[in-house]
Amino acid sequence: NKTLYMEKFDVTIIGSGPGGYVAAIRCAQLGMKTALIEKYPTLGGTCLNVGCIPSKALLDSSEHFHNAVHNFKEHGIEVKAPKVNLKQMIERKRGVVKMTCDGINFLMKKNKITVYTGVGSFESKTVINITKADGTKEQIETGKAIIATGSKPASLPGIEVDKKRIITSTEALEMTEIPKHLIIIGGGVIGLELGSVYARIGSKVSVVEFMDRLIPGMDAGLGKELQRVMKKDLKVEFFMKHKVESVVSKGKEVTVTADNGKGEKIEIKGDYVLMAVGRKPYTEGLNLEKAGVKLDARGRVEVDAHLKTSADNIYAIGDVVVGAMLAHKAEEEGVFVAEQLAGQKPHIDYNLIPGVVYTWPEVAAVGQTEEQLKEKGIKYKVGSFPFKASGRARASMDTDGFVKVLADETTDEILGVHMIGPRTADMIAEAVVAMEYKASAEDISRMSHAHPTFTESLKEAALDATGKRALHI
Ligand code: FAD
Repeated sequence: NKTLYMEKFDVTIIGSGPGGYVAAIRCAQLGMKTALIEKYPTLGGTCLNVGCIPSKALLDSSEHFHNAVHNFKEHGIEVKAPKVNLKQMIERKRGVVKMTCDGINFLMKKNKITVYTGVGSFESKTVINITKADGTKEQIETGKAIIATGSKPASLPGIEVDKKRIITSTEALEMTEIPKHLIIIGGGVIGLELGSVYARIGSKVSVVEFMDRLIPGMDAGLGKELQRVMKKDLKVEFFMKHKVESVVSKGKEVTVTADNGKGEKIEIKGDYVLMAVGRKPYTEGLNLEKAGVKLDARGRVEVDAHLKTSADNIYAIGDVVVGAMLAHKAEEEGVFVAEQLAGQKPHIDYNLIPGVVYTWPEVAAVGQTEEQLKEKGIKYKVGSFPFKASGRARASMDTDGFVKVLADETTDEILGVHMIGPRTADMIAEAVVAMEYKASAEDISRMSHAHPTFTESLKEAALDATGKRALHI
């Protein structure tokens, strides 16, 4: 009887992205016998292999180059015209990814998590098949299961991504040449980050966006400022309110046809098109029917407030379920499910999951946008502070952008913080802590912020929100 030899686990996690591997670690910490199944040979999922980490590695490299070309002289540093060695840039990125993925292997060993390499699929609610690359199969038995299979790049209807000239973020992180003219479909986070990389190292970049603003989910002022700065510093060309109708690739040329909203068609020709219109949940091959796990209308695994699926021993987390497609959201959900399985009562405040765009200037936000507050009829006060009034920003020549604090009109509780400027990706943590503790704008105003730091701008914006008493504007 084959089942006699089946290894049995308390919990099995399918997918090793930031949701899955963090869930595995927390389950193991809490004493569960834990298995993790990953179909690719390296752990870490989208985030470590083809997402957050490699994109930030290339953003950092390209930023150094941009500064060498455009800003060193002003600082009094004279260098001969620097050149990009794309092969080395990509090689360094691969090294960063490898080190990070190897780190996950170490963590799995340290926590005594059994890692299976292969495609996980449900045989039943409690039996999972693992199909290896060579076609061999293994079965394991599990008390609970967590689906953490993440997402894949989406495309537009009728547009085929050939991965050569019409590419996704995955290929954009592994280019062998610098595009002469990169056309990006979608003015969201991924498109703007990768667009920045190539614009900085010499590509002409055009962004075609269906909406009237960039990074549409974020506070409107942020997208507007980002568009202005990307136009000014990187010469990025924007086609807003344009609906892409077709993308045709012929030889080395790609043609994008779009409707400009006035019924007129425009044609943009380039040598690469990056499809950056979002990502879709990935559940292929899981055999969810066999476990009784349902999907929602948008193809995500349906979960309740406890992240439990329609099968009572199976949970789902991260990009494959509803909510922001962010690595740290997936991580929080991994911990949340593990702790529930251990009988604890964890909580996630989704309103306090920050969103960051790693362009330069960086964009970062937490809490409610002005648009959301208006829609809900909540009365609020606004305070803002421009980086051009910050001594620290002047010293580093990073004077674009601002910080905006939204506080409740009567209670002064901070309801949202929206920033665009230098190092705001790191600065937003202060706002998250403040809001977690239900701080008022007055609280931030009265805390000492080291001088000179970029963080003083948050204090100044809070002062501005509380009776227009900013000290440096
Ligand atoms: P994933 O990371 O997608 O991992 C899912 C894993 O499951 C994959 O490894 C997959 O191979 C595996 N899998 C799928 N099906 C099976 C199966 N049947 N059997 C076994 N294994 C399976 N987020 C941020 O917060 N910050 C950023 O800066 C950021 N930058 C990004 C940049 C880019 C270019 C991209 C594409 C994404 C970026 N993201 C960023 C988003 C982030 O990568 C995702 O939100 C995050 O990876 C989701 O984690 P996850 O664990 O849900 O799934």
